[in-house]
Parts: sequence; C-alpha cells; structure tokens
Amino acid sequence: MLVRYRYRVDPTAGQRQALARAFGCARVVYNDALGARQAAHAAGERLSDTEVQRRVVTLAKRTPERAWLGEVASVVLVQACQDAHRAYRSWFDSLAGKRRGRRVGRPRFRSKHGRQSIRLTRNGFALHGSRLYVAKVGNLRVRWSRELPSPPSSVTVIREPDGRYYASFVVERAPTPLPPVAQTAGIDLGLAVFVFATVATSDGSTEQVTNPHHLRIAERRLVKAQRILARKRKGSTNSAKARHRVAAVHRRVRDRRADHHHKLALRLVRENQAVAVEDLAVAGLARTRLGKSVHDAGWAMFVRLLEEKAGRHGRRVVKIGRWVPTSQTCSACGHRDGPKPLHVRVWTCPGCGTTHDRDGNAARNILNILVAAGPAETRNACGADVRPPAMAAVGDEAGTHRGAA
Ligand SMILES: [Zn+2]
Repeated sequence: MLVRYRYRVDPTAGQRQALARAFGCARVVYNDALGARQAAHAAGERLSDTEVQRRVVTLAKRTPERAWLGEVASVVLVQACQDAHRAYRSWFDSLAGKRRGRRVGRPRFRSKHGRQSIRLTRNGFALHGSRLYVAKVGNLRVRWSRELPSPPSSVTVIREPDGRYYASFVVERAPTPLPPVAQTAGIDLGLAVFVFATVATSDGSTEQVTNPHHLRIAERRLVKAQRILARKRKGSTNSAKARHRVAAVHRRVRDRRADHHHKLALRLVRENQAVAVEDLAVAGLARTRLGKSVHDAGWAMFVRLLEEKAGRHGRRVVKIGRWVPTSQTCSACGHRDGPKPLHVRVWTCPGCGTTHDRDGNAARNILNILVAAGPAETRNACGADVRPPAMAAVGDEAGTHRGAA
C-alpha cells in the first residue's frame, strides 16, 4: 500500500530562493493549464493532456513572457501540469456523477499566499545520504523524525503559509495484520464542539469521545485570529502579519487534531474487527442545514485515517449511507419516532420504553446496520458501502438521499 511520510526540511537561504522560483513556476503552469482547459471547454473544444502540456510548458518556454520557466527543473512543470489535469478531471467526473464520495468543487487557481508546493518523481530527486537532492535546488537538510520504510517513488516539497518547509514522500509499506477480534463498532460523528464522536460497540457499551481541551482552545484561537485578519486592510503590513499569525495558529490546530485522530483511529482499529461510519458524502449534506461545522474537514481526515489504518492492519471500515434517520429510530426495537430538534439530547421510545441518549442511539443504529448486513459484509473489501436493511430503509430525510453515486 502507498502511504505518505512527512518531514521538516531546513533549506539554506540560497535553496529558499531556488524553491521560491520553482514554486512560482509550478503555480503559473498549474494556473495556465487550468485556464487553457476552461477556455477550451467554453469554446466547445476538446484538449488532450498532451496538448495542454505542450501549450503551457513547451511552447510557453519559447515566449518572452514565460521564458523564465526554463530556469527550473522541467519535471516540476510537468507534474504541475498533471496536477491540474487531475483536479480538472475530478471536478468533471464529480459533476457527471462518475466519482464516488464527497462532491469535488471547481478547481481553483493557486494563489501566491497559500501553501506552495512542487512535486517530483524519481527523475527529479534523490536521497544522498541524509540529504534530499532536488533538481536545480540542491541538497536539502531533512529532519528525519522516523525512518522511511522503503525507497520513495515521489516527493512533494511544501512551503506552508507559516513559512515552514516540508518534504512529503510517497512510499510503499507492507501491511501488518492484527489477530482477528470479535468486536465491531458503530461511530456517530459529533456535531458539537465538545463531542467528537460517539462509539457503540457490539459488547453493548457506548463511549463518548470528546475533543481534547487543548484542541478546543486552539480552535477558538484560530477563529479569533481569522477575525482579526478580516479587519485588516488588504495588502498592508499588518494584514501580512495577521495572515502569518493565522497560518501559525492553523498549523497548531491541524497538528493537534491530526495527533488526536491518529490515536483514536488506531485504538478503534485495534479493538474492532469492523467499524461502521456514516458516509460523509451523504452526512455532509444533512449537516449543511445545521450550519457549517468547523469539524467537516476533521471528519473527512479522521475517516481517511481510519481506512488507512484498517487497510494496514487487516480490519474493515464500512461506510453506511445515511438515508436511515439514525437519530429518530429506536436502536432497541426499531420503532421510528418523529424528527427531533437538536436540543433534544435524551428521549424515551414509545414503542419499548427505552431511554436513549441521542448520539449513543445514533451510533448504535449505525452498528445495527452493520450487524444486520451480516458477517460477510464485515469481511468485505475495506471501505465497502452497506445498504441499510429493508426494515429500516425509509429514506425520507429530505435532501439527504443521493443514491449510491
Ligand atoms: Zn424502542
């Protein structure tokens, strides 16, 4: 399986300059490639990837306005062009309903102010001892925090908006299966700032996973820093300072969140043979009505980590389409009660008299769907979709039904 390994990099002043040039060229080629695609699309013209690349790299280098593209390694330009193709195709496939999962937005032009990156394949980089050689940049000093499991097939050199540099390697890693266990779990991802998720396991217990205190504080700081940035005049020195501050706080939030997600995902994968989660592509739609949540990005990342770890350790992650009203159905007897406003945290089922915690009940319903799907489903390929059993498949939650696209 292919995984990413990321390390801090400390470029010298000269290397920073060379990287800045490469980032700039990659950004221009990426934007030119997107522009060419959009213009062709508007004109009803079909352009092949090769033709786009010929126009925005090969031909562009010969023009006075783009002659400086020749100063950087051509692998960087070719990869930037391919990234643009991929972004454009994902968007197109998503529009056409050919792509699974979360809807992909129209690819955006890259900005000078955001994260900068270049991607290099084998012909653009090499490992020289402890140094990372990057074509036309030189030998970069890398902080090897852990060993690479195998020789990398590609590397992305990144400059984050807070000014830090990273090298992200793509490597092949052998799976390490864990001995099988009998327990399975259902996860309901939380809506509140406090609760990250509720986990119901097949042994009958329910656990609420809270967002760690330090993460919530960092998130609050991020919101504050963003508010300050919004008040500054664009282009001013103060605005640049505020942007830098937002980037630094953002990194802290991201790191802390990632750390929390990694630990939780690993624990769930160790303890359970199969884990069921809502399909975010479906759940996301239901949640937009409730206001944009700061956790949207967090959930997507958590589910990705869960799938990655499950794949590595021989466990299963099963995505459940959320056209079952999991918070309205009694997880004990299947009685379908009416819709419940968000502030209703606890309710008693009129069918069987069980008193439910809203989130715990939702998590248990997700687990019930997994269990009802039978043991075959838990052995299915990782990330398989499971349709809810007929008895619960009412599917009338407005706006949440997207079919199995
Ligand atoms: Zn009931």
